Amino acid sequence: MTEGNLITPAQNTWCPGCGNFSLQFTLKALLEGLKKEGRSLDDVVLVTGIGCHAKMADYLNINSFYSLHGRTIPAATGIKLANPDLEVICCAGDGDCYAEGLDHLIFAAKRNIGITVLVHNNRVYGLTTGQYTPTSPLGFRGKSTPAGTVELPFNPLEIMLSSGATFIARGYTRRPDQLKMLVSDAVAHHGFSFVDVLQICATYNNMTDYYNSHVYELGDHDTSNFNDACEKAREWDYNTDSGIGLGIFFQKSAPTFEERILTRHGHVPDKMDAIRRILDEKT
Ligand code: SF4
Ligand code: MG
Repeated sequence: MTEGNLITPAQNTWCPGCGNFSLQFTLKALLEGLKKEGRSLDDVVLVTGIGCHAKMADYLNINSFYSLHGRTIPAATGIKLANPDLEVICCAGDGDCYAEGLDHLIFAAKRNIGITVLVHNNRVYGLTTGQYTPTSPLGFRGKSTPAGTVELPFNPLEIMLSSGATFIARGYTRRPDQLKMLVSDAVAHHGFSFVDVLQICATYNNMTDYYNSHVYELGDHDTSNFNDACEKAREWDYNTDSGIGLGIFFQKSAPTFEERILTRHGHVPDKMDAIRRILDEKT
């Protein structure tokens, strides 16, 4: 599965101009980087939910698990606990991860499970042709809201800050160089990493002009300062007409969920030995 070309020959059905292409090339660059570092791509697992984003599992030639709608994170958590040596990367959608799967996202952050979650946040259900999601703008007109939504969007970064996430970032698919760095840093982070990616849906919610005129790089923001991170995250609450910061908002070190479990069962250098011992104890 992981030898040769990293892009599969599967017919790509994403619409022209879709931000998923940017994320695909970001992940391809990440995998090439890991290979150059001498890492085996057999140690990388991609987990997807359901939605346009999920076709990433079809288009990237990497070990992958296509899960149910909203269930990316529990599947990824199980994979990480079964083999903590794996690099587990989740691609999830906003309708997928911020609606049906929101409780899983909150608890993954709370536990600090060592997985990376990339949310393809196009602020619409694209695969089902344009219904509103928890991050759709107020007044969004789509298939389920022809007169416009009457709900304010929520701010996923604030939710992650209050849930205890140890790496929180925001990227944008039309800033591919920065996105590559953010995803690389997220994967390198020890513990739970969350990247909210403002993704262009070219067909049902094309916010390119709006984002292009509002985004800016956070620059020398102190990522260890929780209060500063909260302030920066609240600057744009997905509804106001303010600047939209891109970059790492917050990062801290903390024991991971898998480490706490392994420690409880007696730390041994080889994580797989510890897992086998736990399983032996149960049988
Ligand atoms: Fe991309 Fe939107 Fe088309 Fe889905 S519907 S492939 S998100 S442009
Ligand atoms: Mg979506």
